[in-house]
Amino acid sequence: MDISKVLACSVNECAFNRNKECHAIAINIGGHHPACDTFTDHGHNAGASETGGIGACKVKNCKFNSSLMCSAPGITVGHHENHADCKTFIPAS
Ligand code: SF4
Repeated sequence: MDISKVLACSVNECAFNRNKECHAIAINIGGHHPACDTFTDHGHNAGASETGGIGACKVKNCKFNSSLMCSAPGITVGHHENHADCKTFIPAS
């Protein structure tokens, strides 16, 4: 299984964000709500030169969740209220 990539992230205030790209090697998406658990506003230009993927997803009711891994070809991340959310989340039917 190839790691799903973060295709774009509009959360500019995150330390891992550069030019709307995520530079964390692997992010985690959170439990009951599809929040980006890796978001931090401590520092800037954090992470690696390459862009990030999804290490784990704990949102069991997403249609892309496969054994707590993301099976979507890629995701986008953006603001929801005052935090960062996976915008590719689709409830499992
Ligand atoms: S996907 Fe998460 S860790 Fe990566 S830049 Fe966006 S908010 Fe930060």
